[in-house]
Amino acid sequence: MSTSTRRNFFGALGSLFKENRGPIRPPYASIAATFNECRSCEGMCVSACEEKIIHRDEKGIPFLDFKANGCSDCHKCMEVCTPNVLSDPDRFIQGRARITSMMCMSHHDTICFSCKDPCLEDAIIFEGMFRPIIIPEKCTACGYCVAVCPNAAIEIVV
Ligand code: SF4
Ligand code: SF4
Ligand code: SF4
Repeated sequence: MSTSTRRNFFGALGSLFKENRGPIRPPYASIAATFNECRSCEGMCVSACEEKIIHRDEKGIPFLDFKANGCSDCHKCMEVCTPNVLSDPDRFIQGRARITSMMCMSHHDTICFSCKDPCLEDAIIFEGMFRPIIIPEKCTACGYCVAVCPNAAIEIVV
């Protein structure tokens, strides 16, 4: 099975084990942000994001999708947000990474450290060679661990 086929298969399987959760909004959203301004905005943050992780829903409200990449904390989305929805440089992505152990290879006795390497915060620890867990206090929700997991076992949750 190719990596993408495997990912799609486990992604479908994972939806059976994952709860329905809300969308993850872009970084730097002010604490009072309602995102109402986004409805009439051209979506400058989407084109400014070089990692291509910002998308918009049918109402024009932006959300993050980490399937291909993570957030580099580059501030570019905030810099182009003239309505100032993204305006707080100290308020990063509101969420945390979560591993669905049912889908994690390492929780089923197969060696895999794919998620550990891109985590610059050292927020993923293993029990010896196996069973990774996320340290919530260390996780910034940057999302770089999501795309690299061959089994789509990691998601960012609110
Ligand atoms: S900080 Fe940079 S990488 Fe992160 S969402 Fe904004 S533009 Fe994209
Ligand atoms: S990359 Fe995925 S399968 Fe591998 S250890 Fe991490 S969560 Fe488990
Ligand atoms: S979201 Fe970022 S900080 Fe959190 S565990 Fe994944 S790579 Fe590490």
